[in-house]
Amino acid sequence: MLVDIHTHNPVTPGYTAIRNLTFTEADKILASEEEGFFSLGFHPWHAGDFSTGLMDKLSAWATDNRLVAIGECGLDKNSRASFEVQLPVFKQQIVLSEESHKPLIIHCVGGFNELFRIKKEMNPHQRWIIHGFRGKPELAKQALKAGCALSFGEQFNSESVRITPIDRLFVETDESTLPISGIYHSISMIRNCKVEELTAGQHLLNRFLQKGL
Ligand SMILES: [Zn+2]
Repeated sequence: MLVDIHTHNPVTPGYTAIRNLTFTEADKILASEEEGFFSLGFHPWHAGDFSTGLMDKLSAWATDNRLVAIGECGLDKNSRASFEVQLPVFKQQIVLSEESHKPLIIHCVGGFNELFRIKKEMNPHQRWIIHGFRGKPELAKQALKAGCALSFGEQFNSESVRITPIDRLFVETDESTLPISGIYHSISMIRNCKVEELTAGQHLLNRFLQKGL
């Protein structure tokens, strides 16, 4: 089972993916019987749209066993919202991730020092997956040292892929039109391993399912 840990695309039949929803999509899908794995959160670009009403909704939905991760959330220096606005929104989602025992899908652009500082300060137990990681090996090392996992998509630094421990390496399409199988293939070539050995995504979902939520 190859898991696409983060996608905004409709899921290709026959593949397992965590589909990132918008609040509007969540309203429809989580109210229906539709099966699948989903993630939902306040993206730092939309931190300015945060409201306690929506946060209450997110908390209520987090009890649904189809919602397997909180996010994408995090910090982005290019967001219209300042870090001052983004930080409390991100922190509330960290708290929800801990309370609901669900991993966090993180979007981070230009805020890594702040991210590592918050991780140290809040000391979460849940897995933090930095999605769409394109950083150089120096940054990858820092992220790994901070206890984060890394998810790689269409574009990545090959050396960062090589140095990430296999149990903390995830694969995603995000908004790419490439099939997840192609991205798995590229990563397996770089690591000189079989695609089947890249199973962190599978373990994440197994662990989740074993919780019997
Ligand atoms: Zn995304």
